[in-house]
Amino acid sequence: MSQRLYYQDSFLYDFDAEVREVVDSPRPGLILDRTAFYPTSGGQVFDTGWITSDANAKSRVTEVADSEDGRVIHYLEAPTGDLKVGSRVRGQIDASRRRDHMQQHSGQHVLSAAFVRLHGMATVSFHMADDYCSIDLDTPALTKQQIESAERLANEIILENRAVDIRFVSRDEAGKLGLRKLPPSERDELRLIDIRDFDLTACGGTHVAQTGQIASILVRKTEKVRQGWRVEFVAGLRAVATARRDFTTLTETAAVFSAQIYDVPQQARKTLDENKSLHKQYEQSQEELAAAYAAVLLADATDSQGRWIVVRTVTDRDLNFVKLLAQKLTRLSPRVIALLATTSPQSSLVFAQSAGQPFDMASLMKQTMTKLGGRGGGSKDLAQGGIPNAEGIEATLKGIAATLTNGERKVTDD
Ligand SMILES: [Zn+2]
Repeated sequence: MSQRLYYQDSFLYDFDAEVREVVDSPRPGLILDRTAFYPTSGGQVFDTGWITSDANAKSRVTEVADSEDGRVIHYLEAPTGDLKVGSRVRGQIDASRRRDHMQQHSGQHVLSAAFVRLHGMATVSFHMADDYCSIDLDTPALTKQQIESAERLANEIILENRAVDIRFVSRDEAGKLGLRKLPPSERDELRLIDIRDFDLTACGGTHVAQTGQIASILVRKTEKVRQGWRVEFVAGLRAVATARRDFTTLTETAAVFSAQIYDVPQQARKTLDENKSLHKQYEQSQEELAAAYAAVLLADATDSQGRWIVVRTVTDRDLNFVKLLAQKLTRLSPRVIALLATTSPQSSLVFAQSAGQPFDMASLMKQTMTKLGGRGGGSKDLAQGGIPNAEGIEATLKGIAATLTNGERKVTDD
C-alpha cells in the first residue's frame, strides 16, 4: 500500500518517493512508496502532474487510479527508461488543477451541508466533471427559494472563512459524532473533514484549509432525476469562468437584438411572436395565392370528355405550394385532373384528381417515377414524387394527359 500524503496535507504539491513497481498493462505506469497524487474516488477526479527521475528525465502523469488492493497507480504519457524499481523520483502535482478540485469538493461539502441545515435534504451522490459539478439531493421537490437560500448560506460560510480540519477517528468514535455522512466501508479508521461548527463528514478527498479558499459557489441547472433532484454548481475560479462565459454569450445575443442584456428575454419573446404572426400571414397568403392561381388555371382549361385537365409547371414555388394548388384545383370543381410540377428548389411532381374521378394517381405516379428515375407515391386522389431533373417535364406531363383523355386531347398550355 502506498502512503497517501494528501491525507494529511492537500497543499503538498511536491514530494520525493521511491519506485515500488513498474507496470506496462494496460498502460505504462508507476507505483510509489508514497504519493501526493490523488486517484479518482469519492466523486473527485484524479490529479495530473509530472514525475522526474534521478537523471532529471520528466514524465507526464496523465491519470491516477486506485487499484483494488489499495495501491495508487500513476499512468505516464511516455515513461523514461531510468524509471526502475528502487529508483528515486520527484513528484509534482499540477497545482492549478488540484486547487480547482479542492474548491469544487470543499464547495460541495458546504453546499450539501447547507441543504441539510435549511431544508433537511441529504446529498446522495456527488459528481465532478470538467466544467461543472453536481450533487443529487434526496427530495421529491425543490423550489427556487430553497435553492437560492442554500446557495446564500453556503456563500456566507465561505465569507466567514471557517477552518477546515482533517481528523482521524475510529469507527466507533465516528458513530457518536453525528456525521452528515458515514461511509458503509468496514475500515476501522475514518478520515473526517471538519468545517468548524458547520459540517462534519467522512471523506478521503483533498480540501481547502479555510472556507474562504473556496471563494464562491454558484448553483446553476437543477433537474428532476430518478433518486431526487440534481443540482449543478460551480465553485471558486470555475464560478468566475462560468459567469464570464455566460456574460459573453448574453452580450453576443444582446448584440443580435440590438438590446441591453437584461432585455434579451423580452426581445427574444417579441421576435418569436412576430415570427409566428408572420408565418401565419405567409400561410394565409399562400392559401389565397393558390386559390387565385387555381381559378385562373381552371378558367383557361378546356373541357375534355367532361373533365378539366390542368397541366402546369411552376419554377418559383416549392412542392408545398404545388400541393396546395392541386388541392384548390380539385376542390374548385368535381371534374378536375391536375398534373403539376415544380422545378424549385427540387424537381417534383404532384398528380391530383377531384374526389370521385376514376383514375389512380398513385399508380400513375409510380409509372411516371419508373420512367423518370425518381421516387414517389400517394393515394388514389393525390400523389407526389421527386425526380432527379426537370428537363422536358412539361412534355412528359402533356403525354400523360394525352393518355388520360384517350384520344381527343385538350390541355391547358402556358
Ligand atoms: Zn467529500
